[in-house]
Amino acid sequence: MRAQVNTDRLWDSHMEMAKIGATPKGGVCRLSLTGEDKVSRDLFVQWAKEAGCDIRVDTVGNIFARRAGTDPDAAPVVTGSHLDTQPLGGRFDGAYGVLAGLEVVRALNDANVETRAPIDIVVWTDEEGCRFTTKTMGSATFAGLRPEQEVLDGVDPDGKRFGDELARIGYAGTEPCGGFDIAAYFETHIEQGPILEDEGIPVGAVVGAQGQRCFEVTVTGEEGHAGTLPMDQRKDAYLGAARMADALNAVAFTFQPMPVITVGHVRVRPNSRNTIPGQTVFTIDSRHPRNETLVEMKTAMQAACERIAADMGLGLEMVETSVSPVVSFDEDLVQSVRDAADELGIPCCDMFSGAGHDACKIAAVAPAAMVFVPCKDGISHNELEDATPDDLAAGTAVLLKAVVATANRA
Ligand SMILES: [Zn+2]
Repeated sequence: MRAQVNTDRLWDSHMEMAKIGATPKGGVCRLSLTGEDKVSRDLFVQWAKEAGCDIRVDTVGNIFARRAGTDPDAAPVVTGSHLDTQPLGGRFDGAYGVLAGLEVVRALNDANVETRAPIDIVVWTDEEGCRFTTKTMGSATFAGLRPEQEVLDGVDPDGKRFGDELARIGYAGTEPCGGFDIAAYFETHIEQGPILEDEGIPVGAVVGAQGQRCFEVTVTGEEGHAGTLPMDQRKDAYLGAARMADALNAVAFTFQPMPVITVGHVRVRPNSRNTIPGQTVFTIDSRHPRNETLVEMKTAMQAACERIAADMGLGLEMVETSVSPVVSFDEDLVQSVRDAADELGIPCCDMFSGAGHDACKIAAVAPAAMVFVPCKDGISHNELEDATPDDLAAGTAVLLKAVVATANRA
């Protein structure tokens, strides 16, 4: 008997999981290490145990549910994602990757299919990063990219410590975080963008994730009285910053393929309604799938800001605050995703991920790949986030085939 994804069961599991932290407008609020996070973890663990899995929890709360393979020495094929959400998050971001992994195991059980390597379904802790220090905490720690103690000592805005909250919800595990071999890591996720829906393609084989460079720009002018200083004698730092934001937006349109450039956070000083702003600090988030282009963009952005500062007699300082290089997923695993879609007759296209994911961290220590499915109107990090049962099932069928092929590869 061939293992088959059960579309209704997969959908029903999503709807059951979405009840935990459900918001009035049909979304989900399940912040990391809260009571809702605990309940969602408990439900996953219950389902995984019912599917015959052994549960391990590591010291930062990552959960691994293992379906044994026939070769006890084989490194596992791992698949999963996260169960935490944004404050006004959707039902599918993260949950889909976990529940698709669970459906793979359930489908294999139904058909009595064994694999050579074991299969681990993973729930990574705190992917969203909206409560503690930063995002992808669990997977980054697993990959050795963040010091474990620093993660455990992180505090939320109320001063509650990550490690204490982890213990409070009962997921301060005893397994060491990281340190075991992963044969392959697959993550299914909603696209969180409009490409697949626009193209009418149900599955994306994700070849990598775009790189990101972030900056903080300080524009310095001179405070002055809003009623008395004539317009032609002002050094208005906010006006300069506003013109820079417009110019930065225009820079994006000069590159192909087009990058994304966002000015998302602005601080105006003294931020008084009748004082001409003497200083304005703003952030730039720039992203592109080529590292070389990111460097060219940086030069162009700097030149655009310098030109405006010079024209207006303003001071300018631009500091690079973070660099995340482009992530390339494992070519063999990406090919296994394309092959699986091909064998199933499911249309599939190569694509880049616009967002960061746990898979981007795991790619540092193991071969990794992702499978995307469409989400309605490309909307995510929003209560209105939506996906169809058939698209979720198509992505899971591709995952199932790719996981089994990889787990049986010698
Ligand atoms: Zn996610």
